[in-house]
Amino acid sequence: MSQPCVNIGMVGHVDHGKTTLVKALSGVWTDTHSEEMKRGISIRLGYADTTFRKCPECGLPGGYTVSNKCDQCEAETEEVRTVSFVDSPGHETLMATMLSGAAIMDGAILVIAANEECPQPQTKEHLMALNIIGKKNIVIVQNKIDLVSREKLIEHYKQIKEFVKGTVAENAPIIPISAQQNTNIDALIAAVEDIIPTPVYKMDRPSQMLIARSFDINKPGAPIDRIAGGVVGGTLTEGVLHADDELEIRPGRKVESEGTTKWIPITTLVTEIFAGRHKVKEATPGGLLAVGTKLDPTLTKSDTLTGQVAGKPGTLPPTHHQFTLELHLLERVVGVIDEEDIGVIKTSEPLMLNVGTATTVGVVSSARGDVAEVKLKRPVCARIGSTVAISRRIGARWRLIGMGVITD
Ligand code: GDP
Ligand code: MG
Repeated sequence: MSQPCVNIGMVGHVDHGKTTLVKALSGVWTDTHSEEMKRGISIRLGYADTTFRKCPECGLPGGYTVSNKCDQCEAETEEVRTVSFVDSPGHETLMATMLSGAAIMDGAILVIAANEECPQPQTKEHLMALNIIGKKNIVIVQNKIDLVSREKLIEHYKQIKEFVKGTVAENAPIIPISAQQNTNIDALIAAVEDIIPTPVYKMDRPSQMLIARSFDINKPGAPIDRIAGGVVGGTLTEGVLHADDELEIRPGRKVESEGTTKWIPITTLVTEIFAGRHKVKEATPGGLLAVGTKLDPTLTKSDTLTGQVAGKPGTLPPTHHQFTLELHLLERVVGVIDEEDIGVIKTSEPLMLNVGTATTVGVVSSARGDVAEVKLKRPVCARIGSTVAISRRIGARWRLIGMGVITD
């Protein structure tokens, strides 16, 4: 398998079949966390890689597959490209996780179950999130077609068409599939090949990686001389990373002393890189990487470094403890049954902010018209001009209300 070159998100309402579809395409069941298995829902971002292949004999889309042998004529298939899937949770309480995943998606598959009315709340909220952060390469799947009649399927298709009108997905192809029965997966691959191209990456820039997960891979009780260093998972947005590079991670480590809190950038060495299940000497942008480091694994355990940025020392964007946002708010709250109007942003209200893969809370220190200044509870590393997804607390939940651009 070659290195993955593009990240494809799985988004959509809970139980519509995202994790099942990742399994159908990659063979990997991404819900492996014990809590996920118990509750039967995805909680964290899941990752899986697969290689799209095509039959040299059969026409397309029928000739697209993920297996080495053509499903139709048994001929040896040829590699097209390797992709990474980012499986997001669809539960309404896990929007922050979905949004941090959305930051690393080059395009997305919006999974909509055909046996429920469309749109369900998070079908809408996820599409709006893609809309807000500017992800335009979208393929829609109408899943679970094995559960509905042909008439119902056509009616549901019309609901989808109506729902996507005026959004980034207005012209997205709609592919009827059954993820569970592996039906029409070839047509889905064809649509992804058409709609979600491999981005053109800036390889000549210093390496920069958005961290989406971080781990301690050691088993409890491992002998001290066998302890592996901390591992960070994520995607390179630009540059090339080598297996012995120096790495800086920002904002870094939180240090509290004498009543003040400081964030100190971490520097370490890369020890190994895994891309597409293979150990590689160098990694290029696109696709998900696991990067082994010399860090103390207590620094990386349980996603501690999620949301931080890693890259060539001295080249990373600044760390912000506060910033100014140019606001672009939605008109109405999505993701709930009763959609209320979104009023203005007020001084001292808390907002949940997603910047890259980071989630933080900011308290508004001043707001006038389309500009708000916020003080962050946890600092973020981001360039001026970066896009921020903004959510507000409504009832017991954070609801997406718009986006902002960091201007200062
Ligand atoms: P997610 O929450 O979107 O990740 O949904 P899951 O992949 O966990 O699937 C939710 C449930 O729907 C599981 O019980 C799946 O077996 C089932 N499911 C997924 N795809 C299909 C399908 O195409 N047909 C049928 N009948 N069931 C499906
Ligand atoms: Mg799932």
